[in-house]
Amino acid sequence: MKRKTIATLIVLSLCVMMSAAETFTLVLDAGHGGKDPGALGKTGREKNINLAVTLAVGKLVEQNLKDVKVVYTRKTDVFVELSERAAIANRAKADLFVSIHTNALPKGAQGRGSETYTLGMHRAADNLAVAKRENAAIMLEKDYESRYEGFDPKSSESYIIFEFMQDKNMERSVKLAQLIQRQFRSSGRVDKGVHQAGFLVLRATSMPSCLVELGYITTLSEESYLLSQKGVNELANSIYEAIKKYKATQQ
Ligand SMILES: [Zn+2]
Repeated sequence: MKRKTIATLIVLSLCVMMSAAETFTLVLDAGHGGKDPGALGKTGREKNINLAVTLAVGKLVEQNLKDVKVVYTRKTDVFVELSERAAIANRAKADLFVSIHTNALPKGAQGRGSETYTLGMHRAADNLAVAKRENAAIMLEKDYESRYEGFDPKSSESYIIFEFMQDKNMERSVKLAQLIQRQFRSSGRVDKGVHQAGFLVLRATSMPSCLVELGYITTLSEESYLLSQKGVNELANSIYEAIKKYKATQQ
């Protein structure tokens, strides 16, 4: 072979190797945004906490896991429909989808700690309450009734269909959720466990996925932690470490 041809082949195979190395796509989804503030604390808004932690997770991944491509459903304070969030992940052919949220409780109730959800049908009233509140965001979307095929985010019956869903990604999703909770626990957070519920944003994604509830914006000490740089850094680091460990188990 001519020297030029060999050089071309070397360059080509390097390109192939590089593209093969960057095959893992992570979609990070900061819940709510724009006209949808999510849950409200005394001064904090869920949408801002979600975004701060999401961007911090993304930065850690981009700096340390060079073979992971990070795609964000939003990087600023904008409203993105739930169906579009899932569509972004599906179009990117993502390997993993992580949605980041902040929990809230009715007035008078106190809560502490972090929990992670995977998609599934669970009739436990507590899980249904969290899923209903997060899914209610679709009511701010135009034509949500036709887009979600008559799904009523406030109706318990609508969630029963999830019971019949086959989720081939369930095992992997649970694995990731467990890793996230383990990291939270070792960082000193109260471990509220891994749960399953019918989140629309997870239902429409076609890859392993989970939804993190960072903490309780309606509990004063939690709110100040969630709004602090220390809190954002620790929470983001836990999610990052879990993603890193999850990815290592998939190779
Ligand atoms: Zn939320």
